[in-house]
Amino acid sequence: GATIGILGGGQLGRMLAVAAAQLGYRTHVLAPDRESVAAQTASSLTRADYHNKVVLADFAAACDVVTYEFENIDVTPVEWLAERVPVHPAPRALRIAQDRIAEKSFVEKLGGRPAPWAPVDSPSDLLAALERIGCPAILKTTRFGYDGKGQTVIRNLGEAPAAWEAIGGPAVLEGFIHFSHEFSILVARGLDGTTVRYDPPHNVHRDAILRTSTLPAPAAIATQAEEATTLAIRIAEELGYVGVLACEFFATENGPVFNEMAPRVHNSGHWTIEGAETSQFENHIRAICGLPLGNTMLTGAQVSMENLIGEDPWVPALSETDAHLHLYGKGEARPGRKMGHVTRVIR
Ligand code: ATP
Ligand code: MG
Ligand code: MG
Repeated sequence: GATIGILGGGQLGRMLAVAAAQLGYRTHVLAPDRESVAAQTASSLTRADYHNKVVLADFAAACDVVTYEFENIDVTPVEWLAERVPVHPAPRALRIAQDRIAEKSFVEKLGGRPAPWAPVDSPSDLLAALERIGCPAILKTTRFGYDGKGQTVIRNLGEAPAAWEAIGGPAVLEGFIHFSHEFSILVARGLDGTTVRYDPPHNVHRDAILRTSTLPAPAAIATQAEEATTLAIRIAEELGYVGVLACEFFATENGPVFNEMAPRVHNSGHWTIEGAETSQFENHIRAICGLPLGNTMLTGAQVSMENLIGEDPWVPALSETDAHLHLYGKGEARPGRKMGHVTRVIR
């Protein structure tokens, strides 16, 4: 079988490797981390920096297609690889998704509506932006934020100096959205341009980290899913996207507000392993390998996914009849660290 290269060694890479193996592919992970949990399921692992040209050349030669499992990777080596081996999704998707300003501008051009926003590169920019957007607002680093890291809420003008001190520039100020719910749209687009969509999960965050994804979503989400899905598919088409694309939305009185996108499989799609006929991981592998995409229908009447974070107990899930436990094989259970998840399917 062919060999799929995966950039990144986290749990998403780990689950991609499992899906790839089921379809008869080898996987080769390239990750700098000492603790690569993807190594546990991949066929082989190169532990090295992404900027080492010798390593990259060997990686390109060893792989028939390359994908990535996180977006906070420098795009330069990914572009270098794309000149030598097919890389899906294409580096342009990565370039846009890893820069909140590029991402919002891009989505606005396609008719999407993000929160009111302004680039912030100095304390005076921040004051001008707060003047225009109002409080409360959220200051986010333009790049490299995840799980709420690199962002802070500004409740009043007095909090602006401390926020600038904490975040600095380049940053983006976003108006605070008073949403009723959060949800995400996951679509997969194949090499031939065919797209499939998953039902939208209702996502609940705690401390800016995803806690649960639940389906079917309440009516407040269901009524906005069509507009949000249309935007997600438009984004995928515009990028010539191949693979799974995740877009996060806020459900508001005025319709879906675009939060951000991830050019990869997504935590809010983990429920699809047991809760959909074809998982997001399998559909991503199918897409990048040029295979037909699989059925995304729910396998039960109700599906929920709960993240196991830090010291969250997991033993009880083993005694539940409807629960499917996933542990990522990470060492230390630090606060805020995603250690695994439990999916419950009620048939
Ligand atoms: P991820 O791990 O999803 O990539 P991230 O660090 O990129 O996280 P965001 O998705 O920007 O963070 O924000 C994390 C959470 O903070 C959101 O899911 C939402 O609950 C809240 N949040 C972010 N932006 C806004 C906003 N403009 N208005 C209200 N809440 C927000
Ligand atoms: Mg993000
Ligand atoms: Mg997010």
